Amino acid sequence: MIRIDRHSGLAAAIVVATMLIGCAERQNNESERAAGFESHDEPDEQHGSLWDGYVPFIPVDDEPSYHVLEGYDPTWQNLIRQGVEEARAYWGSYGPVHIWVLGRADDAAPDHEAEQAFIDGYCDWRTATTERTIDECLPHARRQFIEVLERDEPEAYLSVVRETDPHMAELVFINVQDWFREDEPVPDPILRGMHEYTHVFQQSIGPMPTWMMEGGAVFIESWLTALDGRRPIDASMPYIMERAQRIAHTGLTIADMEDVDTVSDDVKRYHLELAYDSGAWATVFLIDRSPTRSVSAMRDEFYPLIKAIGWEAALAQYVDMKDTPEFYDVFEDFMARPLDEQVAVLKSLQP
Ligand SMILES: [Zn+2]
Repeated sequence: MIRIDRHSGLAAAIVVATMLIGCAERQNNESERAAGFESHDEPDEQHGSLWDGYVPFIPVDDEPSYHVLEGYDPTWQNLIRQGVEEARAYWGSYGPVHIWVLGRADDAAPDHEAEQAFIDGYCDWRTATTERTIDECLPHARRQFIEVLERDEPEAYLSVVRETDPHMAELVFINVQDWFREDEPVPDPILRGMHEYTHVFQQSIGPMPTWMMEGGAVFIESWLTALDGRRPIDASMPYIMERAQRIAHTGLTIADMEDVDTVSDDVKRYHLELAYDSGAWATVFLIDRSPTRSVSAMRDEFYPLIKAIGWEAALAQYVDMKDTPEFYDVFEDFMARPLDEQVAVLKSLQP
């Protein structure tokens, strides 16, 4: 999910645009994150493209800054950090990034003092670098963080702070313990950290379609954990294919998911299957059709090509096809092949 939110309740003169790259990070129980700003329906809220006013994130040396709710089990921050650091080592270091982590175990009582300290800290930071005031920030922060915390909803997303120079990345992780399953080989918060940081890297490149952003982030969760043998590459990707196939009857394809912000509600309702599931396999297909069939070449050659000539020209050139429609056509042929053939392609990709 990708949105621009103009924080409601602000005077028009200081309307603040924040872009969210929300990630409907699903587990096998199909739980979905609730969108961070969807509850806003005030008249001054406007939506537009993620890429309006886009400024790329810049190379930075430092590790992201972490801000954690006091009393939240440090296990969860440590797992998120492990995933972020793995992705940062893979993609390179971009930002600046601030990471906000909060949650509460089911049996824990709310700690209102700690919650207030958390949003005070957030608003101190946001107002120190922008024209916003604490009074404007606090109600927004309460909705963005505390209300989600108290509803026991898990969320993970990237929000782009566009009021600063350079633009900054906020990675938000709320109640990630709810996505954790004891029997999984890689703790889910690690995957969430990898996924969200991948969006930071993508935001250093330039405009690209929704399916490429989300699909690339989903694919890299499987790829990085397979690289060092923690989880085989075909552990989760077949299930992701199965989910993608569940909406075959709609006739919708990734061609319908280039910009989730501008599609109709009839398409948007399938954005998880299109952007995340089909997108992950479109990433596999893209790498398979590239000259080296190498995943790291996608990082080192394809993404810089996007930066240089734009995503459509880069895609056509990288997979040696005429244009994007041809890529979409041939990808649909791939989607129609038997699963064992698709998995064989996946397993033959090169590092
Ligand atoms: Zn995402």
